[in-house]
Amino acid sequence: MTRLCVALVEKGTDTMLEAMRGLPREVDMVELRLDAMASCELERLLSGRDRPVIVSNRPERGGGFSDRPERERLGALRRAAELGAEYVDVELDAVDELGALPGATAKIVSYHNFAETPYNLDTIFRRIKAVEPAVVKITAKARDMADVARVLDLLRRRAGDTPLIALSMGEEGLPTRVLAAKFGAFLTFASRESGLESAPGQAPYSEMLGMYRFHQVDAATTLYGVIGNPVAHSMSPAAHNAALAALDINAVYLPFKVTDPALFLDQFEPLGLRGASVTIPHKEAALGLMDEADELARRVGAVNTVKLSEGRRYGCNTDVSAAVRSVEAAAARAGLGPLGALDVLLVGAGGAARAIAYGLHGRVGRLSIANRTVERGQRLAKELDADPYGLDEVADLAPDVLINATSVGMWPGVNECPVPDGALRAGMVVFDSVYNPIRTELLKRAEAAGATVASGVDWFVNQAAAQFELWTGQGAPREVMRRELEHRLGKKDEDAVAGEG
Ligand code: NAP
Repeated sequence: MTRLCVALVEKGTDTMLEAMRGLPREVDMVELRLDAMASCELERLLSGRDRPVIVSNRPERGGGFSDRPERERLGALRRAAELGAEYVDVELDAVDELGALPGATAKIVSYHNFAETPYNLDTIFRRIKAVEPAVVKITAKARDMADVARVLDLLRRRAGDTPLIALSMGEEGLPTRVLAAKFGAFLTFASRESGLESAPGQAPYSEMLGMYRFHQVDAATTLYGVIGNPVAHSMSPAAHNAALAALDINAVYLPFKVTDPALFLDQFEPLGLRGASVTIPHKEAALGLMDEADELARRVGAVNTVKLSEGRRYGCNTDVSAAVRSVEAAAARAGLGPLGALDVLLVGAGGAARAIAYGLHGRVGRLSIANRTVERGQRLAKELDADPYGLDEVADLAPDVLINATSVGMWPGVNECPVPDGALRAGMVVFDSVYNPIRTELLKRAEAAGATVASGVDWFVNQAAAQFELWTGQGAPREVMRRELEHRLGKKDEDAVAGEG
């Protein structure tokens, strides 16, 4: 079983002990970073430990804080071994000087590269292995997902014959930290909490154990994820992992910060990727990477969902079908009758508007499109035989359903509203694509005017649920996904905008 190790970077002996004792039992071991400590009573620290420890004393040249002379720095590691520490971590370039350790302490011999992931990972692995450590450790800064794939590939090939830690540092590196368990690494590192990382890209242990269910990840775990750039603030991992956990499915969903989606699919399919959500800016490019795409995705010109099965790539666009479902549900709640009888005004002409417009095309009685940049709105309207308008005409249109597909009202511009109050009236449906915040200024004003509202969370949950069902073949636990999203978006269930349920 791959261990979860929390790296502690506390300043004093008491705070270090307190931090260690505050960790749950699911944290298998801790790394005591002596170099981060202003003062250290090593004997008291080690006799007070409540689980196995790795003692490290990283020099500045290895990305640590120790500026002590080498003899003194390594002397502390030797002393830790005399006191019975389970592991000490020594850098490859200091292993000769450290020499043999007393007692049963095992040696982790490590290589760190904070600038890049070198091309000769196998050579580095062999050089470390040649000094016969108990554990080989290689950590390197990832500059892109190709670096991450190479580190995972090293783990996949080598972890079987030698206890191995191989991690990518930086934002891109999270998959190496979670998938350490899939590929049989000796351990993975986590931080005690956000802001207390000992290396860039460490996730807090609470996230590793909670959202990513680290101790359930094993060789059979299926891999899903969202590919985009940026993806750090994507809500998809929270929603999908909550759904996978609720149905006890052995799979994990990760954020992948991808610059080259073609290379990413080539490299991650062999690593177990079976499905991906695609977000900005790769939705259009993804279409060209599919062996097969459904008709709607081809017509919209964008894929937001990829299924990888038996070497074939299938793409579809759940944004489109989910938008229709969200509008339909809101219209039903408002008692407006079938879509075919409705007059719908779509505000916006970007990616979200495109998906909604293609979904509604041919299904609603009348579709109008208003956009700030009028020519862009006119182009989309022309593709779909819709009626184009400028934003200044919106107050006069009196549609049954008004949909905001602009980014107006999105955090941090939370007080902005894309349409004037005159466009909002009792009896209509107002649907906002924006989901952060859930209760946008538009929805607040629409509710005050007596409209039935649908938040962007409805749409988000519907598109994510459709992806989940395509990948797993099981009904998606929509309420679990919704609750998780509302929780992440900082909302309590009771004051969340009414959803379709
Ligand atoms: P996009 O492609 O960049 O399009 C942005 C749209 O907003 C364009 O129509 C743009 O008009 C308009 N716009 C931007 N600033 C404006 C302003 N100050 N005044 C008036 N119009 C303005 O973005 P997108 O991908 O379509 O996303 C739009 C929104 O939908 C975002 O908030 C996104 O989070 C949300 N979304 C939600 C979901 C969901 O699942 N709930 C899914 C996808 C997107 P111009 O053409 O004049 O620039």
